[in-house]
Amino acid sequence: MPELPEVEALAAFLRERAIGHQIQRIEVSAISALKTYDPPVSAAAGQPVAGASRHGKFLDLHVGTDLHLVVHLARAGWLHYRDAFPSAGLLKPGKGPIAVRVRLDDGSGFDLTEAGTQKKLAAYFVTDPRLVPGVAKLGPDALSVDLAGFDRAIRSRRGQLKGIITDQSTLSGVGNAYSDEILHAAKLSPFAMSDRLSEEAMGRLYEATQKVLTDAVSRSVGQKAATLKSEKRSGLAVHARTGLPCPVCGDTVREVSFADSSLQYCPTCQTGGKPLADRRLSKLVR
Ligand SMILES: [Zn+2]
Repeated sequence: MPELPEVEALAAFLRERAIGHQIQRIEVSAISALKTYDPPVSAAAGQPVAGASRHGKFLDLHVGTDLHLVVHLARAGWLHYRDAFPSAGLLKPGKGPIAVRVRLDDGSGFDLTEAGTQKKLAAYFVTDPRLVPGVAKLGPDALSVDLAGFDRAIRSRRGQLKGIITDQSTLSGVGNAYSDEILHAAKLSPFAMSDRLSEEAMGRLYEATQKVLTDAVSRSVGQKAATLKSEKRSGLAVHARTGLPCPVCGDTVREVSFADSSLQYCPTCQTGGKPLADRRLSKLVR
C-alpha cells in the first residue's frame, strides 16, 4: 500500500507533470470507486490542474479554483502516468484494473488502477478535501508534527505501538511497512504499550519517525510513478524481510502474522533478543 512517502512522491510528480494543463475529462470505469456524485466529475472538463498535495495517505489533485479529486489508493491501488493513451475512446465500465482515468489537454494523463479482486480504491470529487470523511478525521501528519504534538497523539490512546502509529486518526501517513521500519529504527517492540513509554523512548520514536519518513521521501520524490514501488522495497530494513539478516545487527528478521496482515521485527534490536509470540497461537494455548 502506498504510504506517506509514496503519496508525497506521486503528488510531486503530478505537480511537475500536470500543473497548468487543462483537464479534458475524468472517466470513471469502476463506478463503486467514485464515492461522490455532486459535483459531477464532468465539472472538471476544461478546468486547469492547479496543484497536487497530500493529506495523510490521500492524494489530492487540485482542479481549477475550488474542485479536488481526492484519492485513497488502498492496499493494491496505484497511479500510472501515461504520456499518451492507447485510444481516444471512453473507458468501458467493467472489470479491468483501471478505476479512474484523467485525460489532459496534451494527450497525456493518468490512470488510477487497482489490482486484485478486493476493490477498496476510493475517489472523491469535492469542493473541499475536508468533505472526505477519511480526511476529516486524520490525526496530525507524521512528517510535519512536532515532538510535543507527536507525544500528545501517541499518548491519546492506550494500545500497542504498532496499532497506534498506523491508526490514521491518531497519526496520519504511516502504514504497515513504514511502521515496521520506524519501530525497528527506534529499537522498540511493536507490542510496547503507548501509555508506558518513557520520555526517552518517545523521543526515540519521534526521531525514528522523522528519519525513516524523510529518508523515504527523499528516495521517492523524483522517481517516476513506475519505479516508486521497487525504490520503496530497496530501502527497507525489516519490513517484508522475514528470515533475512537485520542490516543493523545481523540477527534474523522475524514475523508475527495476523488474520490479514503481518509485521516484521528484529529480536536483538527491538525485543531484548526474545522472539514475540504469535498472538493467534498464544490465545489458543492460554
Ligand atoms: Zn537487528
